[in-house]
Amino acid sequence: MKVDYLIVGGGLAGSLLANELLDQNKSVQLINDPTLKSSSSVAGGMVNPVTGKYLTKTWLDDKLFPYLFPYYRKLQSEFGITCIHETGIFRPFSNEENKAHFLNQIEKNELQHYVSVIEDSEKVAPFYAAPLGGLLINSSGWVDVPKLLAGIENKLKSKEAYLSEKFEFEDLVISDEKINYKNIEADRIIFCEGFYVKDNPYFNWLPFNPVKGETLLATLPNYTVPYIVNQGKWVMPIAENTIRIGATYSWHELDFISTERARADILAQVSKFLKSEIEIKSQAAGVRPSTKDRRPIMGPHPKHKNVLIFNGLGTKGVSLAPYLIKTFLEFLFLEKDIQSETTIERYYALYS
Ligand SMILES: Cc1cc2nc3c(=O)[nH]c(=O)nc-3n(C[C@H](O)[C@H](O)[C@H](O)COP(=O)(O)OP(=O)(O)OC[C@H]3O[C@@H](n4cnc5c(N)ncnc54)[C@H](O)[C@@H]3O)c2cc1C
Repeated sequence: MKVDYLIVGGGLAGSLLANELLDQNKSVQLINDPTLKSSSSVAGGMVNPVTGKYLTKTWLDDKLFPYLFPYYRKLQSEFGITCIHETGIFRPFSNEENKAHFLNQIEKNELQHYVSVIEDSEKVAPFYAAPLGGLLINSSGWVDVPKLLAGIENKLKSKEAYLSEKFEFEDLVISDEKINYKNIEADRIIFCEGFYVKDNPYFNWLPFNPVKGETLLATLPNYTVPYIVNQGKWVMPIAENTIRIGATYSWHELDFISTERARADILAQVSKFLKSEIEIKSQAAGVRPSTKDRRPIMGPHPKHKNVLIFNGLGTKGVSLAPYLIKTFLEFLFLEKDIQSETTIERYYALYS
């Protein structure tokens, strides 16, 4: 079998990339190991242009946010699913000082088009302590990543472009002109293995800094709040009477095992602003493929120009992936430079 692109990894990075390449009339073969746990399978999927206690704009917000909603809407209509939920994010004012600080940050960071002030917190009142109101962040919400990836997997399978198996490095043969892997010949191979890049002999020298995260799934009867509510931890309405709560950040014990510590941390934080009793149904853990400088890593291996990486989506893959894939395709097809903050070239000096 001969294809233009062989892609390794069927998380958000590899799946969206494969889908875009197919839409650009390129032939693709994606290899994904279903026995490995992925970050994408547990991601909250939140998109948020304004984050943190200083209400900082997300990096590249002016490029990412106008692009990402039409992008995901197009996919959901193609697959006949609902995977994007443009809910808005409500951030209650915790006290007068916090209110004054947030209002000041709106002016200082010029956030007027992203943020509105809600004085009357009627919609959240039965469930949350928000007597002073709060901020509503627009252009925000969440993407149901597993549902979206299932749509892409079905599309790839229908085009015989999906292999459910582990990629074995000893079967890879690289020459200047082509890539051979078992019975597949490809012009280029692109690695999108998320956290498992640590096992990739071509790219394991890159400065990744993975972050473990955990979330809880809970029921809350008669829950009617339409927004994601965020005050340090977030509470996301995902189905009738069902919420997801998250997330934790840990740079230790990088595995996919749920812990008592994370559960206690989430519950302690959320009980400060969620007034209602919840019943925990399940807990999930994953490892985010973050990097030391918190920027993705894209581009060709220093020695093999037809061996590439698209990884490092970190904590914000859902916001970053659509726009960065666009820039990556411009590099692949038009040889446009990858921007300096995301190109792998910034690390070539580390390769020996
Ligand atoms: C708890 C938690 C909450 C999060 N919340 C958010 C959020 O709210 N918003 C947001 O934007 N992001 C969030 N993220 C981050 C998000 O999940 C990532 O940015 C994104 O999903 C990374 O996608 P990826 O494809 O790079 O990696 P992954 O999703 O990990 O996918 C890698 C894939 O590669 C495959 N693979 C690896 N090695 C091989 C091999 N040798 N052979 C075959 N296949 C292989 C694996 O099977 C896997 O499917 C969260 C992450 C966690 C853990």
